[in-house]
Amino acid sequence: MNIEIQNLIKTYEKESAIHIDTLDLKDIHTLAIVGPSGGGKSTLLKLLGTIEIADSGSLKVNGIEIVGLKDPKSYLHEIGFVFQHDNLFPNLTVLQNVTIHLIYTYQMDEKEATTLAEKWLNKVGILEHKDKKVHQLSGGQAQRAAIVRALITGAKLLMLDEPTSALDPELAYEVMMTLMHMKEETDMIIVTHELNFARRFADYYLFVEEGKILAHGPIEQLFAHE
Ligand code: ADP
Ligand code: ADP
Repeated sequence: MNIEIQNLIKTYEKESAIHIDTLDLKDIHTLAIVGPSGGGKSTLLKLLGTIEIADSGSLKVNGIEIVGLKDPKSYLHEIGFVFQHDNLFPNLTVLQNVTIHLIYTYQMDEKEATTLAEKWLNKVGILEHKDKKVHQLSGGQAQRAAIVRALITGAKLLMLDEPTSALDPELAYEVMMTLMHMKEETDMIIVTHELNFARRFADYYLFVEEGKILAHGPIEQLFAHE
C-alpha cells in the first residue's frame, strides 16, 4: 500500500484527534499503528477507511484521495474491516455470515459461495463450526470468521482495530496466528497494543500520540519507543 498525508485534521468537539502535517509511505505490506490510549490510532484508521471524514487536508491511499471522496463505493470494494468485537450478524450461522455478501452483493451462485467460504473457513481452522450461530462461538473463532468475511470478497487492504484486545490471551494468540497466516492474501493495517505481535507481524510502524505521528519506520525500530 501507499499512504500520503498532507495537513490532515480531524476534530471532535473542538478538540483535535488527528493533526498530521505530512507522511509519505510507499510499498508497505503490513502496517502497525501503535501508541498510547486516546492518542488517535482508531481515528486515523477510521479516516483511512472512510468511517470518519476529515475536516481538512489530504489523505491518499494507493493514489486515491479519501478526503471528500464523492463516491466511495469502488474504494470500499477494495477494503475490509475487523473491529474489536461485534463484527458478525448474530442471528446467522458462520457460513451465512461469510457468504451473505458474496450472494447478495456480488450475486455469486449459492453453491459456489459455499464452496469458497468452506475453503477459507478451513484455512483459518473453523470449518467444523460453520453451522453454528455466532453466540455459540468463542471470541477467537468469531474473530477468525470476521477476518474471512472481510477478505473473501477480494479486499486488497484489510484494516483491523484491536482485533485481539477483547480476547483472553490464548484466544488472542489464535487470532494472531490466523493473521500471520493470512498476511500473504492482502495488505493490512492494524491498530494494536500487542507490541511483540506487531514486531513479528508488521513491516512498518506508525507511533501515534496526541493526534500526531511522533515516529515511524521499519518495524525493527519500534524497540526504540518502549
Ligand atoms: P486511540 O485509538 O489511540 O485510543 P482514538 O482515536 O480513539 O484514540 O481517540 C483520539 C481522541 O479523540 C481521544 O481524545 C478520544 O477521546 C477522542 N474521540 C475519539 N472518538 C471520538 C468521538 N466519536 N467523539 C468525541 N471524541 C472522540
Ligand atoms: P479505542 O480502543 O479505540 O481507544 P475507546 O474505548 O477509547 O476505543 O472508544 C471506543 C469508541 O468510542 C471509539 O471508536 C470512539 O469513536 C468513541 N469515543 C472515544 N472517545 C470518545 C469520546 N470522548 N466521546 C465520544 N465517543 C468517543
